[in-house]
Amino acid sequence: MTEFVIPPPVPVSLPVAGRTAAFPVGRVFCIGRNYKWDRHEAAPTDMPPWFMKPARAVVPAQGELPYPPGTSDFCHEVELVVAIGRGGSNIDAAQVQERHIWGYAAGLDLTRRDLQQQAKRAGNPWEAAKAFDHSAPCTPLVPAEVCGHPKSGAVWLAVNGVERQRADLSELLWPVPELVAMLSRSVALQPGDLVFTGTPSGVGALQPGDVVSGAVADIGRFSMTVRASREPARHGIATSLAGA
Ligand code: MN
Repeated sequence: MTEFVIPPPVPVSLPVAGRTAAFPVGRVFCIGRNYKWDRHEAAPTDMPPWFMKPARAVVPAQGELPYPPGTSDFCHEVELVVAIGRGGSNIDAAQVQERHIWGYAAGLDLTRRDLQQQAKRAGNPWEAAKAFDHSAPCTPLVPAEVCGHPKSGAVWLAVNGVERQRADLSELLWPVPELVAMLSRSVALQPGDLVFTGTPSGVGALQPGDVVSGAVADIGRFSMTVRASREPARHGIATSLAGA
């Protein structure tokens, strides 16, 4: 047994619907834009970009959602989440569902949009915009052996009961098998990896006190309340929420 000089981090896990055993979360991959945001736009030919969040950003999509520090544009992105049960490199898209996907969830790719826009302008990395604490809430995972591999079903999100985002899984520009195959050509996927598959149009800002609810097909449904941050903003951008 290895001894550690400080207590090792507690493993991150997600609950599994209808089971007592949990799913251990390894890495979190997020796919960039993967739905048409304008119905007139041409279908893309290049694969979408991807980025990462730390496993520790994954939290259950329930209860209170803390408003993060350092932003005044905290945005929602509802997404289908794929859980990898068997890893691999250079995976054939035709084998992704059968061999590699363990299950699915509904998730939120929460974004500090102002920091993302600054990063885009400056050509800087996106971590400050994407990889913050509590930035990846997820519903309990549903095993593929229970829900199958969904090809259609509504992806929606509402704020205070007013719908902001709605699309159908059939409208994903790059289907899930293609996304997993693409990632596996770039990194060796491992059991426990999660893939956030991109968000429909209608992304927008959340305010403290907002109730954010939504669902992905029959896979997961969530409702959370945004809680004001008790931390003063650190990046000199948002001051109105300090001490709120
Ligand atoms: Mn996203």
